[in-house]
Amino acid sequence: MEKPGLLPLLDARLPLTEEGVAEAARLAGVSLAQAWGVVRYYPRYGEVREGRYLVDDPVARARGIGSLLEGTVGTHPPLGLEALAPAYVRVEGEERWVEVGGRAEPFATFRLPFALGHGRKLLPPEPTDTLEAYRAQGGLRALEAARKGDLTPEALLKAVEEAGLLGRGGAAFPTHLKLRAVARGEAPRYLVANGDESEPGNFKDRFLLEHHPFLVLEGALLAGFAVGASRVYLYIREEFQAAIRGLKEAIGALEEAGLLLVPTEVFQSGGLYICGEETALLESMEGRRAEPRLKPPFPVEKGLWGRPTAVQNVETLAAIPRILEGLEAWRREEPKLFSISGDVAAPGLYELPLGTPLGEALRRAGGEPEGLKAVLLGGAAGVFTRDFAFPLRYRERLPLGAGAVVAFGEGVDLWAVLEGLAHFFQEESCGKCFPCPLGTTVQLALVQRRVRDARLVEDLASTLKGSLCGLGQSAYWAYRSLLEVEGAA
Ligand code: SF4
Repeated sequence: MEKPGLLPLLDARLPLTEEGVAEAARLAGVSLAQAWGVVRYYPRYGEVREGRYLVDDPVARARGIGSLLEGTVGTHPPLGLEALAPAYVRVEGEERWVEVGGRAEPFATFRLPFALGHGRKLLPPEPTDTLEAYRAQGGLRALEAARKGDLTPEALLKAVEEAGLLGRGGAAFPTHLKLRAVARGEAPRYLVANGDESEPGNFKDRFLLEHHPFLVLEGALLAGFAVGASRVYLYIREEFQAAIRGLKEAIGALEEAGLLLVPTEVFQSGGLYICGEETALLESMEGRRAEPRLKPPFPVEKGLWGRPTAVQNVETLAAIPRILEGLEAWRREEPKLFSISGDVAAPGLYELPLGTPLGEALRRAGGEPEGLKAVLLGGAAGVFTRDFAFPLRYRERLPLGAGAVVAFGEGVDLWAVLEGLAHFFQEESCGKCFPCPLGTTVQLALVQRRVRDARLVEDLASTLKGSLCGLGQSAYWAYRSLLEVEGAA
């Protein structure tokens, strides 16, 4: 990093004292006022009350949050634990624990159960969390070819282009266009892997990072190699402590094997939903509040420290080694990860070809579409639907987002689920632009009163559409879609 970022300096001084903040500010070269502005912004620098917190995700809401809250001191934002819901976080002094089904495990070692993953390419059937295991399953060949000069950046970019890979974080932007734009920019250039997965209902990146760190790392290094990056950053959600440790070990192992083609480091995310927005992510890396930037300029032109930067989702990067292994096979299958949870017999992570009908995806997870009231597709920034014939692919009528599918049975109170989403948006709005905090606050009040007036929702939508970033712009989608599902629109 060109300058020491403020967040890592603060992290190294937890629990924070006045002296610690002053020292971090001095080392980062920022004013004390800026440092305190950052400390007050990110919840992880604030005081956390000890006790048990319910992980407030759509599945917990569907189960009835009232009774689940008994014996807790509050709620915790979603953590990618929907397949295990209801889940709790216990805070004891400096320690945090995940509690699922009566069993508790520290954040430092907790990983999603491997058995939740079902796939072949992006989710190998065996764990690949050691260099030997990853190599034994065919990994590292592309990285080795790049090191030997048998794979050029142009050949790599061409393969990604021919694969038609679209960004898997939700925006579905063609990956090769982003990489090429950065590769054309002036050095130094950067590659950032966005592992700040915070969308309710999604746990694909968490799973990849926890069980297949070498796959993600190989993809990030190959992308970094393709754009001529001087550094690769793995921006990982701070709560994914086991993943962070695993990635650091994987970086060390690749360095020892002479395969770390680009200097690489892990950056712990700011710990807010908005940190997943690519420009907010860059702001947090530069030591400021995670508030989205006005675009243009786009990060491919002016990204980290003002340099050309490719910010790519973890699953997108994991796809790159698989594409290079066999372009034709990739194009035939076009695998995509879907996080399926809620009222299905086998919630988990499913690797399915793009275009799989929603009903079939649900059946793969042991769900019966006929017995469902609705599905939340795409997470909080998604929609309720009963269109089980809908083909799960990008640029269709319904937003796929990052691939979250939450199923709700006939007995579920969908308004309770919607209230959870409205609460989530209102809490996570960063406050930088006017329409979003206003619109999300009004939305929460309307949803709490169960207002079914489609005209009012359209008014709300016209306000939120004027928001600066995707958080505000998509905040009403679930509300409007629930009225459609109920036939009230
Ligand atoms: S839309 Fe919301 S989250 Fe995005 S910049 Fe505006 S206030 Fe912040």
